[in-house]
Amino acid sequence: MNNLIIGSHVGFNNSTQLLGSVNEALSYGENTFMFYTGAPQNTRRGAILDEITYKAYEVMKENNIDLSKVIVHAPYIVNLANLENFEFSVNFLKEEVRRVSLLGIKYMVLHPGSAVNYPREEAIERIISGLNLILDNNLDVTICLETMAGKGSEIGINISEIKRMIDGVKYKDKIGVCLDTCHLNDSGIDLTKFDEYIKEFDKEIGINYIKVIHINDSKNEIGSHKDRHENIGFGTIGFDTLIKIIYDERFTDIPKILETPYVTKDDESKDKVYPPYKYEIDMIRNKLFDNKLIDKIRNN
Ligand code: ZN
Ligand code: FE
Ligand code: FE
Repeated sequence: MNNLIIGSHVGFNNSTQLLGSVNEALSYGENTFMFYTGAPQNTRRGAILDEITYKAYEVMKENNIDLSKVIVHAPYIVNLANLENFEFSVNFLKEEVRRVSLLGIKYMVLHPGSAVNYPREEAIERIISGLNLILDNNLDVTICLETMAGKGSEIGINISEIKRMIDGVKYKDKIGVCLDTCHLNDSGIDLTKFDEYIKEFDKEIGINYIKVIHINDSKNEIGSHKDRHENIGFGTIGFDTLIKIIYDERFTDIPKILETPYVTKDDESKDKVYPPYKYEIDMIRNKLFDNKLIDKIRNN
């Protein structure tokens, strides 16, 4: 029996919208997916067209993709911790939650923010106020705070910071957590002891807050605070540890999303990239590491 819910980051553009995203996910053999509703590095967004959304729902139904497992990722340039563009970030994310609800999607992953030059305590308080302005009890959208690597002044780098933010949020059923294996590793968690981490998480926050897991290997060692994703099995976390997390029975119903890097060829321009997801997902389904995978991707 294989009821694994697995997908990857896919594109979303103004002309094909959700339908384009679904078709890309299907081309990789996925049964869920995640996307930005526009470029992640800017906040320009076009209108959501319902007729495309309905067409996408049909294709999803035909292919047994459960809409409630599809994820949107908020753009990473908004920063609720920064006083200087707090109002902009709040307004943009409010609008983004509305767009997500128009698409019928239930979960939006958010990088909590970066403290920049503010004390971490103040940054956390500001994120909480922002979340309380954004979360809308009348919309069926949950914001999932992502566990961060600790690059720069990122907030959300350990269980206690995530707990602080959740504790401060008024609508508890509109807030969740997205675990990212690369970020956890880089923040200092030894994922060979994933069970210990989850027990601690459950004691402090509650395992039921975990709504999404980003599955990435890491280019760097435990505690490096770098956040550089690596292809599955080719990094410091390794294939067996990732497989254990992916198939952990406590998270069977939770979507697993790959955000691993596209592959390039040495003799080609770096603009030419090959998506690895179809191959990585095959390998995950077979539970068998293929150390020739990168060459396989390049030669296809
Ligand atoms: Zn993320
Ligand atoms: Fe992630
Ligand atoms: Fe990352």
